Amino acid sequence: VIELGQPEHSVITTCAYCGVGCSFKAEMKGTTVVRMVPHKDGGANEGHSCVKGRFAWGYATHADRQTKPMVRDSIDEPWRVVSWEEAISFAAQRLMAVQAKYGRGSIGGITSSRCTNEEVYVVQKMIRAAFGNNNVDTCARVCHSPTGYGLKQTFGTSAGTQDFRSVDQADVILVIGANPTDGHPVFGSRMKKRLRQGAKLIVLDPRRIDLVRSPHVAATHHLQLQPGSNVAALNALAHVVVTEGLVARDFVTERCDPVEFTRWEAFIRDPRHSPEAVEEHTGIPAAELRAAARLYATGGNAAIYYGLGVTEHSQGSTAVMGMANLAMATGNIGRDGVGVNPLRGQNNVQGSCDMGSFPHELTGYRHVSDDVVRQQFEAVWNATLDSEPGLRIPNMFDAAVDGSFKGLFVQGEDIAQSDPNTQHVFAALRAMEIVVVQDLFLNETAAFAHVFLPGTSFLEKDGTFTNAERRINRVRPVMPSQTGKQEWEVVCELAAAMGYPMRYEHGSQIMDEIARLTPTFAGVSFAKLDRVGSVQWPCTDEDSVGTPIMHADGFVRGQGRFMITEYVPTPERASRFYPLILTTGRILSHYNVGAQTRRTANVAWHPEDILEIHAHDAEQRGIRDNDLVSIASRIGATTLRARISDRMPQGVVYTTFHHPVTGANVVTTDNSDWATNCPEYKVTAVQVTRSNHP
Ligand code: SF4
Repeated sequence: VIELGQPEHSVITTCAYCGVGCSFKAEMKGTTVVRMVPHKDGGANEGHSCVKGRFAWGYATHADRQTKPMVRDSIDEPWRVVSWEEAISFAAQRLMAVQAKYGRGSIGGITSSRCTNEEVYVVQKMIRAAFGNNNVDTCARVCHSPTGYGLKQTFGTSAGTQDFRSVDQADVILVIGANPTDGHPVFGSRMKKRLRQGAKLIVLDPRRIDLVRSPHVAATHHLQLQPGSNVAALNALAHVVVTEGLVARDFVTERCDPVEFTRWEAFIRDPRHSPEAVEEHTGIPAAELRAAARLYATGGNAAIYYGLGVTEHSQGSTAVMGMANLAMATGNIGRDGVGVNPLRGQNNVQGSCDMGSFPHELTGYRHVSDDVVRQQFEAVWNATLDSEPGLRIPNMFDAAVDGSFKGLFVQGEDIAQSDPNTQHVFAALRAMEIVVVQDLFLNETAAFAHVFLPGTSFLEKDGTFTNAERRINRVRPVMPSQTGKQEWEVVCELAAAMGYPMRYEHGSQIMDEIARLTPTFAGVSFAKLDRVGSVQWPCTDEDSVGTPIMHADGFVRGQGRFMITEYVPTPERASRFYPLILTTGRILSHYNVGAQTRRTANVAWHPEDILEIHAHDAEQRGIRDNDLVSIASRIGATTLRARISDRMPQGVVYTTFHHPVTGANVVTTDNSDWATNCPEYKVTAVQVTRSNHP
């Protein structure tokens, strides 16, 4: 709690950082925040918070905050502050001119996982109805798009299966490619509490995360795999389940597609998937992997929690399906204490996906080619919609470099810092004739923009966020918008200036439209959220408070579908010139690209990105603790400070991506998930040398 005086009133709102979605009471003196107190009735946090959330509000009033619209003819010119009318007219005229010259599909947009559901909804509506194409994508493309694909294929919907409370009933917790105590601290604490009560822990991760060994908590098995071998390891776990007679036959018979199961069982039984056969690829001792599989299958309620260490790989979607196979084969789905749970990174990444931000899906994950669904939207929106999926973010970049994609609207994302292969992203942005950025700060992407539309912080927003457990929380304004407008109003004005009027008096009307068009949100309204606190989708009628646990009586798709998960090694290999594998992640005190946390007190705890390196690898290179080191990949090079760390296995190095100067993505590659194009941030072959910089 930060004390700045005595509060006069308070407002309940939601943290704008990670996917836990903690509720806070903002205690106010006039329009000044006096302190932020975690809300004891918050459905996701029950009175807890972390350092990120507690200091979150500082950036809202930071001196770097931009509150006036700005335009410029070219990115080499200085910005001109203009009126809202001029900025919107400038953007609309440029976007329409590009379309007139290069075609309807030459522009598109990216929605933000930091914005509210309502703000995201109006952006994808503007793109589909005013731009006239489906060139809309979300930053989930670079994080959890494989979750969307993999869980939809197997279970029928792309969302975590459990509420957070469910972990209290887990007997075995399998954490894969996630670091909950840093990335999702309040949930990480809840998980630790359950572990202290005696639940067993299996960690599948190249790095020794805190959970592996921390006070009163120790993993029963730390499967320290080689980056890029998730699918081989998951297949080996499933192989043990099948060949040692540990399949939950009753569950599979009652709940799953028998033809697909038989096919999968024959596939996974093959000796090439055995722990012994994959030991060399995974680096995991076969006996350890066998023991972990037995524990998962026979230790009682077994729950999987996973993060970007699963999805950000060339086989991210395959790995998600591998986890779903494992859960179905052992009957660990559809009740308390089990499930397959993505730990979503950003506060509203679940919501941005739910709201139709993918180029192939309208709200609620309905395909744009579905005539019946599309006609419902056309009737309500009074627009003709394209039935062809649009471009994904990497396709937009490629098309920009090739000269066929010329205009982009970017809502609250810093693609120039967050997306892989920075040099390619810069080339794409430079090639565009109009880039419109809607954000709080002049971020790295704004350096390539022609129009800057100032956005609102979470303290000014009036809407909803959806957290990793599908919980829809209200975000309430605690102070007036510093720009004089809500972001959705600005988007509506831009759409109108392009000839497609979108009119709402209040954010609640946008949610009413979402509910009308989206069966899983049919029972959601601001009035209900204000009455009951929060609901978890699917929430299909007025009397329902939603669905904490999915697939309880049957899978959303009917029968659960086992999928074939052939292991295909990543094309990115270590070599004589690039002998180490770089993997990336987050740290407790920062959030994503750090645009917000670098402007709060959190920056003092982690002022720069650090490269963690094993003592042996450091010694071989003459590197000492705190030395500046150069990291070179086949793509590019950057400089970081080194920390010798016993968290790292030999041959693997690790860094975060919270600071733009060091730019970890200068070295990451273009490799991506085969199904969704999610970048392979987690495997980059690099060389590390002592830097000549002072
Ligand atoms: Fe909660 Fe996440 Fe915010 Fe921390 S950053 S307070 S865990 S929502």
